[in-house]
Amino acid sequence: MYRPNEDYLKLPGSYLFSTIGKKVNAYTEANPDKKIIRLGIGDVTQPLCPAVIKALHEAVDEQASADSFRGYAPDLGYEFLRHAMAENDFRARGCDIADDEVFISDGAKSDSANIQEIFARNSKIAVCDPVYPVYVDSNVMAGRCGEYDANSGVWSNVIYMPCTSENGFAPDYPTETPDIIYLCFPNNPTGAAITKDRLQGWVDYANKVGAVIIFDAAYEAYISEEDIPHSIFECEGARTCAIELRSFSKNAGFTGLRLAATVIPHDLKVKVEGTEIEMHSLWARRHGTKYNGAPYIVQKAGAACYTDEGKAQLKEMVATYMKNAHFIYDGLSEAGYEVYGGKNSPYVWLKTPNNMTSWEYFDYLLEKAGVVGTPGSGFGPSGEHYFRLTAFGSYQNSVEAIDRIKKI
Ligand SMILES: *Cc1c(COP(=O)(O)O)cnc(C)c1O
Repeated sequence: MYRPNEDYLKLPGSYLFSTIGKKVNAYTEANPDKKIIRLGIGDVTQPLCPAVIKALHEAVDEQASADSFRGYAPDLGYEFLRHAMAENDFRARGCDIADDEVFISDGAKSDSANIQEIFARNSKIAVCDPVYPVYVDSNVMAGRCGEYDANSGVWSNVIYMPCTSENGFAPDYPTETPDIIYLCFPNNPTGAAITKDRLQGWVDYANKVGAVIIFDAAYEAYISEEDIPHSIFECEGARTCAIELRSFSKNAGFTGLRLAATVIPHDLKVKVEGTEIEMHSLWARRHGTKYNGAPYIVQKAGAACYTDEGKAQLKEMVATYMKNAHFIYDGLSEAGYEVYGGKNSPYVWLKTPNNMTSWEYFDYLLEKAGVVGTPGSGFGPSGEHYFRLTAFGSYQNSVEAIDRIKKI
């Protein structure tokens, strides 16, 4: 008789967004005349920019004739996009990354979940707390996290690195040495960025202890401050200890189109029985075996993001969301809240007032203001007493939400 993969059975249900949905429905039924404003939204809302739309149309038309039709894409991505990314995202910022170190894919979520496959089964992972849930759950599925304790919400074989206001939401080095360290900056959910110095410290630490850093840079386009690195490869020594994840979802609105990249330098290598193994070749093998490449049409759309026209239009798109973020951040500050994030990120992270739990504050905000956000405790135990609002809604809704919150 077949058996399921029992590692999957260890995963607790994902109650966060279903519980939010139930509470919102109950409120709407009880208050049918009240308009709810959703600032919990984690998806973009603006349409694709004109440069991307034009590239999509052109690429579609190419498929109509035999001489420009494209079948299977190269597993690792078209050269034109690997080159555009290496040149614009890395070499233009002084990062030493070659075209062939960029692997094109259909998402940073899937890459962040799949990347663990190229590491030993008994690798120990370290994650920030609170955290984007995919990093932990994908390692649970691989049988790497031990047992879950429902009371504390922690896995027995995972190293948690608390990120709270006390450490500026950038983790301290763990006491136990990890093999794989997941870092995401600017961060979802806290909205925090990491300074160049602190990230350099992590690179030095990883090189010293022989760990690898998986650096999720999905929000780099939102960075506005000078001293914040856009890539971990801006740090010296990162080529021997880091993998970076890039996505077109948040900077260009490709959440529906699907496009991303993983960068693995050739220098990321480790000795196995006297032979040096490049992690680059393992990921290339993984892609070659399990993946048939992101669609040509979508990769052409991705390349359009690097034209002068595309760059200008994306900048405007990000600025629109950041205008919301600034409005939400300033409004909450004026209302007396302790507020974080919102400067280099579309997420605003607030401390709940009067020591309310994250869920108490969720109910309070829904009841008193008709505003929906996301309880911080849903992202990990150290998210308790915090709450996330996002800037992905409309400006009008952001203004009205803040207006209502101020009036409570
Ligand atoms: C949105 C997001 C991504 C992007 O995922 P895609 O699969 O590329 O859409 C990656 N990491 C984090 C932390 C995110 O919030």
